Parts: sequence; structure tokens; C-alpha cells
Amino acid sequence: MKRRSYQKSKDLLDRASQVLAGGVSSEFRKYNHPHAIFYTHGEGTLIYDVDGNTYLDFTLSQGPLIVGHSHPKVLESVETYSREGQLFAGQHIKEIELAEKLHQLIPSAELMRFCLDGSEAVQTAFRVARSKTGKNKFLRFEGHYHGWLDNVAWGISTPSVEALGEDDNPHVFPWSAGLSPNSKDDFIILPWNDLELVERIVAEKHAELAAIITEPIMCNNGCIVPNEGFLQGLRTICDRYDIALIFDEVITGFRLGLGGAQGYYGITPDLSIFAKAIASGYPISAIVGKKEWMDEIVSARVIHAGTMNTSNPTVAAALATIEVLEEDPDTYNRMFRLGKKLKDGLRVAAQETGQNLFVQGTAAMLSTSFTSLPEVKNYRDTLQADKAKLGRFIAGLHDRGIRVIGRGLWYISAVHTEEDIDKAIAVGTEVLKEIR
Ligand code: PLP
Repeated sequence: MKRRSYQKSKDLLDRASQVLAGGVSSEFRKYNHPHAIFYTHGEGTLIYDVDGNTYLDFTLSQGPLIVGHSHPKVLESVETYSREGQLFAGQHIKEIELAEKLHQLIPSAELMRFCLDGSEAVQTAFRVARSKTGKNKFLRFEGHYHGWLDNVAWGISTPSVEALGEDDNPHVFPWSAGLSPNSKDDFIILPWNDLELVERIVAEKHAELAAIITEPIMCNNGCIVPNEGFLQGLRTICDRYDIALIFDEVITGFRLGLGGAQGYYGITPDLSIFAKAIASGYPISAIVGKKEWMDEIVSARVIHAGTMNTSNPTVAAALATIEVLEEDPDTYNRMFRLGKKLKDGLRVAAQETGQNLFVQGTAAMLSTSFTSLPEVKNYRDTLQADKAKLGRFIAGLHDRGIRVIGRGLWYISAVHTEEDIDKAIAVGTEVLKEIR
């Protein structure tokens, strides 16, 4: 195999580092292979870098590009609507159209507010939950990611599974220096997918709990689906103790269907967060919820604001994304079929090459890791995987033109084809033959 060159990206990274802290605009972008890469453009399932390398893209920009790069209908809508203005510090009819559409599609979306990204919409949900319940803390789960702001930036990177300690009173480690030490008092953290444990801890601590927040599927680590009855169990517990059930659908929103995971699993949370895939890479997110909770915002007891909220291009992108996804009733079935095909193909490749590659996931996303565990059920299990070997796998794929998220996560879009999946499996097999 002829080695790809990344020299121009390296030179640009050196130049960028003179003016951009660390050479990048988000910490995660540093950890590409073999270093941060500079891209020139993307189209459909392909993305191109400054060194002339082309990649079949399964990162989809960490999830948002559900209809691929540069979808013509999204671009057209953004262009047309932007010509009417960019931002009005006032309302515009298209915002109503978008809200009406989400209201139709998402089971819990009786009312909503738009924000810019997932991180701030999560914080808005906490504010609503605190205001309505008069309680302060939220319960969250190990291995789930809810953005980079202080009170959710704990317990994301853990040195070892042993360091986590007891299930019912885990240690949490700060992800960053400079976090407010008080932010650690905002939450209780538990392993995910253990309903009995949640029931026991909530029975003890419900008087301080305003919310339980969960990714409905643990997309950020291992792409782990909820155990049978787990989400329903959380619903019951929250109803029993006057606690808001918050689904963080930043990844699952539009990925599991236009109704998100709540539509897919038939469990309706009180509040939920949609971001990423709802607007094909344009910065818009939504906190949606049942009227009785969102009334905290209606009454202005809870303040939510933002100069840049619902700029014309972002609303246009969201409306066009929905239109594209709704156009063909088979879109999600096709994406799910491709997801299954990729999962099955990589599993066969693992068997054929004798590698301990572990593949799991659902719908149009999957996770690859190297582990000898027979199943990976929670964050503690994911910590036992061989990260260095995963790094070699991802690098091998990358050097052959397949781009996957560094933690082993693969996303499939509405524009991936059978041939794309065949190629990914063939290349994956080649890499598995080589790596140790
Ligand atoms: N919640 C989940 C489940 C996420 O995966 C992310 C980002 O990856 C966030 C929240 C934060 O969203 P954003 O990066 O848009 O702030």
C-alpha cells in the first residue's frame, strides 16, 4: 500500500498553532490520524483534504451530516433564505414552520426553544427541571456525554476501571482543569443500564433530584442499547418522585428516525435535546418538552436567550434536512439495512482474521473496539478494551481512505450506498489482517 502523505496538513497545523490555541477550534479535532487534518471540501459521502487525499466518510462530522456533505437541497434552502437576511433579533415565520414540524414529528415536543448547540440546550433543560421541581441535582450516567460545560465535564475520562470504585458511589474525575469545584455537587453519577441500582439510589436521594438525564442509547461509548425495560423503568421512577426525565437526543435525534429515540422506543421523556443531525451541520439545537415543563420558560421564570438563535441559514438547513429525510419513506429502512450490513460484515472480517474486534450498535450507527469480553454492557466494560489497538485500526482505515471517529464510532448517512459499505468491509478486512 502506498502511504498517504499528510504533509500539507502538518504544515497548516504548524501555521495554525501560531494563532489558534493548539491549532484547532475544538479539542476533539486534535485527535485525527496522524494529527489534525485540514479539509478542503466534502460532497455526499466523500471528504477531501489539502494533501489531495479522499476519504469515504463515516464520521459525518461527529454525526450532523445525516444527508451527507453539501446536500444540494440543503445548500439551496440556505442560500435562498439567507438572501432574505441573516438574523433579525426578532421572529420570523420560518421558525414557526420548523417548530410546527418538530412538534409533529417528536412525541414529547409540545413546546420548544431553539439554541445553538447541544451543550447549551442541555443546560437549559437542567434549569427548567430545577425551576419546576424546586430541587437541585441531576442524576447522570457513566460514559454518557452531555457537552463540555462544567457540571457535565466530570466522569468522562477515567484512568482505569478500578479507579471508578463502587457501583453505587463511583469516583468522578474532572475532564478539564478550571472546572468550578462546586459543579461537582450538581450531580450524582451511576453506571448505566442497571435499573435496580437507579431505583435504590433514587429512593434514597429523590428529595434532591430535579432530573435524570440519559442518552437513550449510549452512543458516546460503545454504542450500547438500553436493556429491555431500562428506559421505561426510568420513566416510572421519574413519575413516582417528581423528577424530570431528560433524553439527550443530540446523537439519536433524526438518527433513529425523525421522532428520535423516544419515537423509536415509545418512551416519552419530559424534556429532550435535539442538535447535530437536525440541521446538517448548521448550528441549531432545540430543547423540546411537555407543556407543563416548558411552561417554566413560557412564564419567564426560567430565562433562555441567545443573540444568534435561529439565524436564517440554520433554520433553512433544518427545514431542508427534514424535507430530504421525509422525501423517501424507505430512507430510514435503507440506512438501518446498511448499518446491519456493515456490522455483520465487520464481524465476519473479525472471525476470518482471528481478531478480537467487537462490533455493536443499532440502526445507522455502530461501534468497533478490541476486547475479549463476550459483551459490552456499560462504560466500565468499554474501559477494558484495547485502545492502542483501536488506534492502529482507525489509522489503518484512514491511510486507506476510510474515515471513522477515533473512538471507533461509525455513522451511516442517507446517501451511503451498498457499494460504500462493501468497500468499508473490504478495507476493514485488509486492515484487520495487518494489525497486531
Ligand atoms: N449530548 C450528546 C449526547 C453529545 O454527543 C454531544 C456532543 O457530541 C453533546 C450533548 C454536546 O453537543 P454540542 O457539541 O453540540 O455542544
